[in-house]
Amino acid sequence: MEMKGKVIIITGASSGIGKATALKLSKKGAKVVLSSRRKDELEALKKSIEKETGEALVVIADVTKKPDMDRLVAKTLEAYGTVDALINNAGLMPLSFVEKLKTNEWEKMVDVNIKGVLNGVAAVLPTLIKNKSGHIINISSTAAYSYFPGGAVYCATKAAVKMFSEGLRQELAPTYGIRVTSIEPGVVATNLLDTITDEDILGNLSEMQKMTALESEDIAEAIYYALKQPLRVNVNDVHILPTEQK
Ligand code: NDP
Repeated sequence: MEMKGKVIIITGASSGIGKATALKLSKKGAKVVLSSRRKDELEALKKSIEKETGEALVVIADVTKKPDMDRLVAKTLEAYGTVDALINNAGLMPLSFVEKLKTNEWEKMVDVNIKGVLNGVAAVLPTLIKNKSGHIINISSTAAYSYFPGGAVYCATKAAVKMFSEGLRQELAPTYGIRVTSIEPGVVATNLLDTITDEDILGNLSEMQKMTALESEDIAEAIYYALKQPLRVNVNDVHILPTEQK
């Protein structure tokens, strides 16, 4: 699919993978809708995109709030008249061992990583069904395939995203021509570890931090690969790991 003029909504665009993806797709000619909760970061990103003669719209939205996601799509339609793709990227990973019973953090992960994706899909689907085209890209993780210490809940949320993506694809692709992709990265150098409060996990992370991680741009490239395929091609999964990761 040609990127030029395509309208692409990106959640979690204020940092890491979402930000790199916005920069990549805007360079390829897409109109990018930048969404997350932090206004200053999104406005700064919009400015740098516009400096490169790209086009961007900022819509503040919390993915856990369905009315926010409905507003995100409404604002996109108001500005650009359509939506061609939604990248459900917002997520968090406050790892902890289950016995610590950090139940607030479990709930946050379920709310953002799973319900956030559902809210995004619910908001955008009427438009994509009406258009009989579109692309939903969900950022899952290699955590959907294998457990790692402290990741019981996080891995469960990412497994849910992967399976939801497959269900979406089977229901939507053959009937409406709506393509669905699950991206499953290994370790990427971002701020994702910042929400960890379990000190026993922080001690465990040093091994992981020794390896050469993927860069956010590597995942942006994988997202671009899935998007740019001809309409007959649905890239179901992209499972992408650092060379050094087991
Ligand atoms: P970052 O912490 O850099 O980015 C997370 C993004 O999510 C931020 O832009 C943040 O924006 C947004 N976000 C968090 N909560 C909400 C919310 N309630 N509503 C809207 N936006 C929210 O991490 P990454 O770039 O690494 O993470 C992006 C995705 O990639 C996540 O889904 C993560 O699980 C996944 N992933 C990351 C890997 C890694 O190793 N880094 C590996 C595999 C998958 P704001 O605070 O402005 O709202």
